[in-house]
Amino acid sequence: MNQSKQRLLLFVLCITLLLVVSARVSPAPPAAEAEPVPDEREIDVPEEPEETPEPSPETTPNIRDILPDISASDWYLKLVNNTYVLPPSFTPPAVREIQDGQYFDSRATDALNRMLDAARGEGYTVYIGTGYRPYRTQATLFYGKASQIAWGGAVEYAEAEELARQTVAYPGTSEHQLGLAVDILDAPDTRMDADTLEDLPLYVWLRAHCVDYGFIPRYPRAKQDLTGWFEPWHYRYVGETAARYILENGLCLEEFIALY
Ligand SMILES: [Zn+2]
Repeated sequence: MNQSKQRLLLFVLCITLLLVVSARVSPAPPAAEAEPVPDEREIDVPEEPEETPEPSPETTPNIRDILPDISASDWYLKLVNNTYVLPPSFTPPAVREIQDGQYFDSRATDALNRMLDAARGEGYTVYIGTGYRPYRTQATLFYGKASQIAWGGAVEYAEAEELARQTVAYPGTSEHQLGLAVDILDAPDTRMDADTLEDLPLYVWLRAHCVDYGFIPRYPRAKQDLTGWFEPWHYRYVGETAARYILENGLCLEEFIALY
């Protein structure tokens, strides 16, 4: 075999081999459009639908179904605020001295003294800033405040009265006139600043135990929109049954009375 024939044979072999190989190798499928891998933060995890348990009558009773069988018109539940105003002539039937020159409705004095004794027994010092306050004293306080604001002529007197209402109850709108409210402090010179006093250990104790003596914190921060006041020192006698219901259901006196 001469050299040209050898070359021809080699060429034919190469072509044959190429054809065989190309026939066996199937053409590559067109590259699939690559799905972009979403950033982990962008993945929307479908939320599990929350199972709403059927309310069981034992655990979530209607607040009205367990309302204590008491009369909201009883003396110890009397509501006093900017809407329910006491006349100047209102006085409790009888008051009795408690301590620090202060007085309280004599029907609730024992309950108050037991609560204060219990607090002292826990090591707290207890000072009564104000107990019963007659209408006339409230009027003196209020108009004194308004005059003080108006003094110097910076504001009109009518405006001064409106400003005074923010810090001093208008005559007839103070619970202290009932003789069933008391401002409890830890010392005579304690500055009545609600924000700094809110978690005074004495108040933490009172909030936890006042119910046993028929008292409620009357103006807690959480109810300021409804009561108009935030005063951690101000406690109100409402009787043990009402106090327990009010505190267990997270109400203020306005909300409790509205249930009747
Ligand atoms: Zn008060």
